[in-house]
Parts: sequence; C-alpha cells; structure tokens
Amino acid sequence: MKQVIDPRTERLDRKIKLLAGGPEPLCAYLYDLTELRRHARRLMAALPSFCELFYALKANSEAPFAGALAGIVHGYEAASAGEVRIARSLSSQLPVVFGGPVKTDAALEEALSLGVRHIHVESRHELIRLSLIAQRSGMVVPVLLRVNVSGTLPDATLFMAGGQTQFGIDEQLVPEVIEEALLLKGIRLDGFHFHSVSNNLNEERHLELVRHYCGLVKAWATRFGLEIRYVNSGGGIGVNYADLTRQFDWERFAEGLDKRIRPLMPDGAKLMFECGRFIAASSGAYAAEVVDVKSSHGNDFVLLRGGTHHFRLPASWGHSHPFRIVPIDSWSYPYARPEHVSTHVTVVGELCTPKDRLAKEAFIERVRVGDVLLFPYAGAYGWAISHREFLSHPHPLHLYADDNGWLGTKQELEEENAK
Ligand SMILES: *Cc1c(COP(=O)(O)O)cnc(C)c1O
Repeated sequence: MKQVIDPRTERLDRKIKLLAGGPEPLCAYLYDLTELRRHARRLMAALPSFCELFYALKANSEAPFAGALAGIVHGYEAASAGEVRIARSLSSQLPVVFGGPVKTDAALEEALSLGVRHIHVESRHELIRLSLIAQRSGMVVPVLLRVNVSGTLPDATLFMAGGQTQFGIDEQLVPEVIEEALLLKGIRLDGFHFHSVSNNLNEERHLELVRHYCGLVKAWATRFGLEIRYVNSGGGIGVNYADLTRQFDWERFAEGLDKRIRPLMPDGAKLMFECGRFIAASSGAYAAEVVDVKSSHGNDFVLLRGGTHHFRLPASWGHSHPFRIVPIDSWSYPYARPEHVSTHVTVVGELCTPKDRLAKEAFIERVRVGDVLLFPYAGAYGWAISHREFLSHPHPLHLYADDNGWLGTKQELEEENAK
C-alpha cells in the first residue's frame, strides 16, 4: 500500500515545536487517532465480505488508541485475560477472541464469564481443561485449534510455526486432537487458527500461506465431517521499516483473497485476520529531544532524552529505526550550540547500556542539541513492549490528536472517560 505523506505531518511538527525548547527536554508518544481510523477503514473497505479483520490488542492496548478502532474493525484479539478485560472495557458489543500459549484455569474462566466469541486452544491438555471448566458452568465453548504447520514458510522476521516453537499443536498431531475435541462435552470445534509468521511484507507470499491453511482445513473438515465456521489466519502482516514508502499492498492482497482464496474456503466459513502491527504502527510516532552530541573513536553519536526503555522496537528487532529531525530554533545556553553536520550518526538513549540504540549509520544533514528526533511507525510494539521502569527515568508524554486537533494526555483522556 502506498504511504502518502500526510498533511497531518505539519500539525505534528507544530505540536513538537510548541512542546520543545522548554526547561524539560521533550519526550513523547504522539498518536493520530484520525489517521488510525482512516487507515483501519481503508483496510476494512478493501476486505471481501467472507473475511473479518480483528485488531490484536497486544500491539498497542492503550485505551484511547485501541478504543478508536471500536466500531471500525470486526473485533478484538486478546492474548491474556487482562486483554479480554481491556477489550470488554472498550466495547461491550464487539466480538473478542482469546488466545495465547499459557492459559491458566482462572484466565479461561474469566474469558468465559466475559463472553468471548471463541478461544484459540493450543494443546490437548488445554482443550480437556477448557472442556471441564465449561461443563462446570453448563456451557459449550466454541474453539479453534491453533496449528503449528509443518514445512517452509515465507520470509518474515519472526516465526511462530513451521518449526520448534511453543505455539499451537503440531500439524501431524491435529487429527488426534480433533477426535478428542469431538468427544468432549464442553467443546464445540468451530475451526482452526494459524498465526505462523510476523512481519511478512509480501502479499503474494501471504496469499500462499492462507491458501496452504485452506488446504489443511479442507482436508480435516472432509475427513472428520466438521462444520467450519472460522479459519483464522492470524496476524503477521508486516511494516517495512527499512523503506517506509514501500508497504504491504493490502488492496492487492484483498483482491487475491476474493479471486483465489474465496473458492477454497469451506461453505459459510469466515476467514479471519487478527492484525496488530499493520493496523497500529503508522498512527504513532515517538519524539525525543537531543540532549547531547558527541564523537567517540571516530563515530558520531546523538544522545536523546528517551530511548529503548520507551521504544524497545528497534532493539528487539535489531533494526535501525527511521527518523526525521524536527529543527527547534530556541537555544538558551550562553555558548555555541553543539551539532553534527553532514555525517552518519548512531542514535542512542539515556540508559547505561550500549544496547540502548534506536538508529545507526543514519545520514543527517545537521542535528543540534535541542532538536527533536521523530521516529514514525511507532504505534505498534513501541510503548507496549518497553521495559519502562528500567533506570527510573520519567515516562514520555502520551499525546493524542483527532479531527478536533490535539486532545489531552492519556491520563487526562482516561480521567475524562471515567467520569
Ligand atoms: C501477536 C499476535 C498477533 C498479531 O500479530 P501482528 O504481527 O502484530 O499482526 C495475532 N495473533 C496472535 C496469536 C499473536 O500472538
């Protein structure tokens, strides 16, 4: 999908200029809820009617952000009982599905009491446990069995299947677990769940993956006479951090679904997607002010108020995150402003570890102490995965904009909502 340079860039820069240059260096997450809704509506509009798009909460479960998707996406995917609770607090209506490799009895009980649409079951033991729990409350729980497929998978950054992982049930064991499921009184087997890759950037390969899933489902459905309601192909659609102008072409993918996947689906079944990164990434940015610049052993460093304890994504994926520089004019010290000019820099944060690195070998025309670095595509797996208490530095601000301009901070919005 082509990423258009948004006119909202200007409002972002204006906001940063307003906030920077104060006594405390700026450090903030800036979220654009208008952009988030526009993007999600666009994904939904392209999707064929036999498909459903759920939002995987773990990418960013902050209430103002995740809540902005209620009424647009088909539902929420929760990876813990805590996320089921969040989903329910965001919408009492939207369907919620619940998965994860380790589900305690208490978590399963709570998910049932909060009314999830179905549960993704990841082992035979979990299936039997869930059946007992359901029977205790006189319920029959709809489940999808999560499958760890055999064989090669398309290139991606992380793999949750196709090899030795803790996720799901190995493909060759699935038939015996189906047989078990058909005997259990508390279980209704509604279909299968596959979430095999993360950050796949190629539409064609993703279609190939879904096609492969459909083949497996067809074979099991025929062999066991199953009535399939859902085939969940998981998330894993990627964001191209290395070249922001070349993103996964969702429209082309959706066309492929309609033409090539629809005929392979069991009658009446829905094909689900539960995307986190692809929905959330583009609508968040992380901004951090330059507090120092230095050169060390021939390498130029830019040191930020902030770092990987707020924005762990570049460290966790080992990538250099793209950024742009928002120049800030004010300078209040009585000496020349330190700067780097026309050089490649390593961008680091305030932690006492060389691993606190956000970007490397990044060419800059000019960066000065007091300028702000803005890291786009920080809306997914940014704050959510960060070890924010490490070193006890202050947290960043969390600012939200919508059609009416900039809203309050996260704290203010939550207080507003609680009233
Ligand atoms: C994390 C996760 C997702 C979302 O993955 P993205 O790569 O963010 O789309 C979906 N389903 C499951 C089971 C997950 O664990």
